[in-house]
Amino acid sequence: MKTVYVFGGKADHSDPRQKDKTITGGKGANLAEMASIGLPVPPGFTITTEECVAYLRDGADFSDGLKAAVADALAHVEATVGKTFGDAADPLLVSVRSGARVSMPGMMDTVLNLGLNDATVEGLSASSGDARFAWDSYRRFIQMYSDVVLGIDHGLFEEALEIAKEDKGFYNDTEMNAADWQALVSEYKSIVEGELGRPFPQDVHEQLWGAIRAVFDSWDSDRAKVYRRLNDIPGDWGTAVNVQAMVFGNMGETSATGVAFTRDPATGTRAYYGEYLINAQGEDVVAGIRTPQYLTKAAREAAGAKPLSMEEALPDAYAELARVFDLLELHYKDMQDIEFTVERGKLWMLQTRSGKRTAKAALKMAVDMVGEGLIDEREAVRRVDPMALDQLLHPTLDPKAERNVLTTGLPASPGAAAGKIVLDADTAEQWAGRGEKVILVRVETSPEDIHGMHAAQGILTARGGMTSHAAVVARGMGRPCVSGAGAVSIDRASRTLRIGSTELKEGDAITLDGATGQVMLGIVPTVEPELAGDFGTLMVWADKLRRMKVRTNAETPDDCRMARQFGAEGIGLCRTEHMFFEASRISLVRQMILAEDEAGRRRALEKLLPEQRADFTAIFEVMAGLPCTIRLLDPPLHEFLPHADEEFAELADATGLGVDHLKRRAGELHEFNPMLGHRGCRLGITFPEIYEMQARAIFEAVCAVKQSSGEAPLPEIMIPLVATKRELALLRALVDKTAEAVFAETGTRVDYLVGTMIELPRAALMAGEIAEEGAFFSFGTNDLTQTTLGVSRDDAARFLSVYVDKGIFPRDPFVSLDIDGVGQLVELAAERGRATRPDIKLGICGEHGGDPASIAFCESVGLDYVSASPYRVPIARLSAAQAAL
Ligand code: ADP
Ligand code: MG
Ligand code: MG
Repeated sequence: MKTVYVFGGKADHSDPRQKDKTITGGKGANLAEMASIGLPVPPGFTITTEECVAYLRDGADFSDGLKAAVADALAHVEATVGKTFGDAADPLLVSVRSGARVSMPGMMDTVLNLGLNDATVEGLSASSGDARFAWDSYRRFIQMYSDVVLGIDHGLFEEALEIAKEDKGFYNDTEMNAADWQALVSEYKSIVEGELGRPFPQDVHEQLWGAIRAVFDSWDSDRAKVYRRLNDIPGDWGTAVNVQAMVFGNMGETSATGVAFTRDPATGTRAYYGEYLINAQGEDVVAGIRTPQYLTKAAREAAGAKPLSMEEALPDAYAELARVFDLLELHYKDMQDIEFTVERGKLWMLQTRSGKRTAKAALKMAVDMVGEGLIDEREAVRRVDPMALDQLLHPTLDPKAERNVLTTGLPASPGAAAGKIVLDADTAEQWAGRGEKVILVRVETSPEDIHGMHAAQGILTARGGMTSHAAVVARGMGRPCVSGAGAVSIDRASRTLRIGSTELKEGDAITLDGATGQVMLGIVPTVEPELAGDFGTLMVWADKLRRMKVRTNAETPDDCRMARQFGAEGIGLCRTEHMFFEASRISLVRQMILAEDEAGRRRALEKLLPEQRADFTAIFEVMAGLPCTIRLLDPPLHEFLPHADEEFAELADATGLGVDHLKRRAGELHEFNPMLGHRGCRLGITFPEIYEMQARAIFEAVCAVKQSSGEAPLPEIMIPLVATKRELALLRALVDKTAEAVFAETGTRVDYLVGTMIELPRAALMAGEIAEEGAFFSFGTNDLTQTTLGVSRDDAARFLSVYVDKGIFPRDPFVSLDIDGVGQLVELAAERGRATRPDIKLGICGEHGGDPASIAFCESVGLDYVSASPYRVPIARLSAAQAAL
């Protein structure tokens, strides 16, 4: 098995492993792909992810095999370029770039210009005929290598540069001449020696292996780990290392560097989109050091900007770039995110990948590309990330609302966000942790800010363009972002900021409109999202392709209406206890719980009956014609108990029982472990009159809706926490008897089902027998996860993240189903249930019903439907379609 693959020049790109991202990483695979279709790619080589994994596992040094393979590969690059690495007369320089399977902002930063030392810099100067360029490259290299590989604070170098510029009275880096850079290089080298106690490495091979080691090590950096956790990336993938011949965008006015998208990643519009800088290198464009210029003339004119676009300043290179854009879109059949450099008029491609995009753009591009004949409907459905729909389903700013606009920055990531200003990532996380909505305001963001960006509703930066770190990460996370708002100035020390002429402090409220770039004072009201257009089109395609039905978890008519707008085909879980918690009813519920005997309970229940019937009537009116699973009372009774003295006093008044007596009764109901205590069907078994009242309310409501509108929903009455067939048999008999009584009284008959939730391991194991009594199973995977893992969901927060970090669980099992363990119980129960009752209805109603990976599992075991909260219904529809493809 090869450990190193060469690309570019005369390289043979035919080994399929070289174009496999799992082996060569995204960057390496695409560099090989571009080189093999004849695009201009500087030659280089890729060390596989397998080598990284082996290196991290063995903690050993590099193997002799790897050293030999790298030497061979380097010889290929030298031969292709016609220069030698470390040659004092005409040196080959390389970049060292990390590249995991998916792009990861947490990984090591690229080191450019590697191979420069005190001797080769003179050679570069002579061979290029440009001393300024050579010394500029060397100072860049020392700073980058010291920061990224040697771990020296880059601030030290920036400070030295600032002082050097100040001494000369310069404003821009471009004013520095060869001698200025050379002087700065000496300064830099003494900084390194001061920090490290030894000189900057002059041996080019030591430089190369140092950088390779740093890339490997960065896979296990804290930054990378945080990013992986937030993005569900497994820790065992490893990263590849790409070593590539340098091309130079900093060789004067006919050289440039840039980043581009083949379509607009914010809106999806079909237009080239990007930024570039003349006489610049690497990430100058995204670092916000100079303001980047537009790629196309049209974009420059639309923005009213002066500096020439690339189309105008470098027309030949631009024409070549446009040709490459079209080739790449045809080849990859997707929007590409591209990095390029122009060296003395010649275009070089340094990277391409499928571009990150907003949900809106993803939808528009998928639908447009079907129209263009580039992809088919199935591919369009496959391509949109279901979780990204979340961004579209949330409110945007009310166009009619008054806006007190403080300033306008760049519309870097769409959506509206309002909250309290916080000035650093840790504060963002702390405040969000206590339930506050916050907006993270920074000069610019870096990978260290990711946790704060995640915790924030939105992000505002003072510096940086549309392709800055903040913009790219925010779009990926679906956070609204306004970047490059130059009117924002932050004073970290006093924790205050000024936006234009307005003084603000941390904690003040602002609103961002990521679609226009506006920053507004206070909280601006929002409006509901638009569900027609591209969204509607894609959903129609998804609905054609999916097998499973999608229902919603809802307990109010408003939620039901919302869910139906989002396409819900029924209710998968209606939790009746939510109705009991309402302020106006809690006293009646308490009277029922604390009653001395059945007669006392019935008195209270009689008063609850009309209330509960009204609840169901309102829901059934919205859900007419659709199946509605209603779960009878589930939580332990003590959750409803009074605590305050005045609550007890009020109850004493209502019941005529003494306060002391009531307090004693409440004490008796205390449980040590309520999750495993007197709850679920155990309540129905011990206090049948409670379930009887609920069943009566349901049937009276269904019959009423049928009489008034002619169409009834199909109630599916669900008994919770069943462990045995006998529990279900007893309670089913109670429900049947109540139904018959209501049918007789109303003279109306409706269809209904009685079934159970499968949420205890015993129920899953005994599903064959339980199916004799139940017409449907709904997998209550929240409780089934708790009871199978023996982990309390309410207490798990303290240790689960550590478990995920250490790889004990790949993901939080309450968010994404533990398919290996809990999944087995689901599968087994489904099989055993079907064996007894072939037409048994099977669904899932836990939180997992809105999680794409869990939905794919539900498809694989043949469930009939999934149920999700209203906002997640479209996510579930799309996920179900993808699962069926
Ligand atoms: P990232 O993964 O952070 O985008 P890259 O490895 O793509 O990092 O490198 C960042 C930038 O450095 C590139 O966009 C490009 O401008 C520059 N760069 C990388 N390799 C080379 C090279 N061989 N020649 C010139 N510039 C390079
Ligand atoms: Mg980078
Ligand atoms: Mg890149």
